[in-house]
Amino acid sequence: MTLTTPTTAERTGEVRLPKNHNRPGHAPAGTNKRVTAPPPEHLEKVMAWGMASGSISHVYRPTTLDGVREIFRLAEQSGLTVGFRGGGNSYGDAALNGENILIDFRRMNRILDWDPAGGLIRLEPGVTLEQLWQYVIEDGWWPPVATGTMRITIGGGAAMNVHGKNAWKLGPIGDHIREFDLLLPSGKLLTCSREQHADIFHAAIGGFGMLGCFTSLTLQMKRIYSGLLNVDALSSPNLGEMMAYFDAHLHDSDYLVGWIDAFPGGRAIGRGQIHRATYLKPGEDPHPQETLRLDSQAIPQTMMGFLPKIWLPFFMRPFYNNLGWRMVCWAKYSASAILEGTAGKSYRQPHAHFHFLLDAIPFKNAYGRGGIIQYQAFIPAGTAHDTFVTLFEMGRDRGVPNYLSVLKRHRPDPFLMTHGLDGYSMAMDFHLSRHNRAKVVQLARDMDEVVLAAGGRFYFAKDSTLRPEVVQAYLGAETIARFRQLKAQCDPAGMLESNLWRRLF
Ligand SMILES: Cc1cc2nc3c(=O)[nH]c(=O)nc-3n(C[C@H](O)[C@H](O)[C@H](O)COP(=O)(O)OP(=O)(O)OC[C@H]3O[C@@H](n4cnc5c(N)ncnc54)[C@H](O)[C@@H]3O)c2cc1C
Repeated sequence: MTLTTPTTAERTGEVRLPKNHNRPGHAPAGTNKRVTAPPPEHLEKVMAWGMASGSISHVYRPTTLDGVREIFRLAEQSGLTVGFRGGGNSYGDAALNGENILIDFRRMNRILDWDPAGGLIRLEPGVTLEQLWQYVIEDGWWPPVATGTMRITIGGGAAMNVHGKNAWKLGPIGDHIREFDLLLPSGKLLTCSREQHADIFHAAIGGFGMLGCFTSLTLQMKRIYSGLLNVDALSSPNLGEMMAYFDAHLHDSDYLVGWIDAFPGGRAIGRGQIHRATYLKPGEDPHPQETLRLDSQAIPQTMMGFLPKIWLPFFMRPFYNNLGWRMVCWAKYSASAILEGTAGKSYRQPHAHFHFLLDAIPFKNAYGRGGIIQYQAFIPAGTAHDTFVTLFEMGRDRGVPNYLSVLKRHRPDPFLMTHGLDGYSMAMDFHLSRHNRAKVVQLARDMDEVVLAAGGRFYFAKDSTLRPEVVQAYLGAETIARFRQLKAQCDPAGMLESNLWRRLF
């Protein structure tokens, strides 16, 4: 069930059983090996986070390294491929492996070692970002990279080399990984760092699980002196002013993020709201022991003091159309313009609130059967403004505007399959329905050309629509050849695959 070539099953929302679910497994081409099919009780329907694609896989949830080795052996015997999955927060097909084996790492979630004096932590890949910050905060540390949801696993985050609202300053998560153990399909365990197997280190981070699986990772946490952040919230009348604000504050901010109302055109194009945050310096918080306590970070589960956030998708459902969402964005922007204005409002906010406030809202329940896709374009700073304006205009002109857009600033990084560059990214959510699906896919393809012409890049964690030729164009033939070479070295039989791998490589 892919996004770009909808099948009948996909259009009707039905997910079919794999072709081989009740047959013995198929032997790899050219071999006479006896094959054994995995037992059918492991068959599960697995969806992408955006709910726009999904597939059936033999899903295993091992708890130990040897458990993973056993699954590799089972794959060998059955002739099936193996894909990996963490928290399943990739929007598209990166953590799916339809009709084959999928290893879900969420039960390998132990903290293996913690040094509260130096902030170095060693953990299993299924540890979530939520577990991580909750484990370290009372000792005065915070994860250096925090994504917009705390439900990701650190293994899944490393495999995509995720970034946060401080990407221009602290880079992606890979910049804070000291070392990891990578289990290869052969059962061999490789310890990789900047000194040891440096080429595999730089390719497996951001290598979307195609070289091996992380079985432990060592990361450096960031020292903090308070459980609070100084936050400025302000409205911005258009994209130009928002980007000018970012540029003016790159040097004195720790986090910067912009929400954009993608509906209006003309002089209001790209209007929105900026959130900027800085850490408190030592001594600035009179009660750090209190603000660093876990209870001080608890995320409110209600809105306006009484409305349970889990109800919100129910109320939002009628607004999930162009007119409804235009009104939601207008209301959000107007509230920001009236209450905060361009001069802004300053307040202090717990770290967890600043990063993960939206986690309390089960947004997915509002999407309906079509789901969403996210299109995140990374554009060099010099051409970013005009390119984003073109992308917004394309969506609006074709009647498929994006409902939620987020602006972030980035920096280049040393990882092989990187999405990072010295520039900006715009993440754009498109709601899919039976009627607009083909239009959105065509829009994404046309936007790819604009992004490529601007020297831009893409991000596999968000992707659902790229084609091999686009990936070849932005990563370059040499980079892809190098990645394939390392894959042949780590996974000579080509056991590791995912739906994304098959779609793009
Ligand atoms: C609401 C929301 C907000 C988000 N905000 C951000 C953001 O701010 N910044 C950002 O960068 N991303 C963001 N993302 C994307 C998300 O951070 C990435 O997709 C991340 O990789 C998800 O981690 P996961 O544990 O859910 O991994 P999954 O989505 O399950 O898997 C991601 C990849 O990791 C591989 N993998 C999983 N475990 C392992 C392992 N142990 N070894 C090797 N490979 C493995 C999988 O095969 C897959 O290719 C957001 C996603 C959502 C839903």
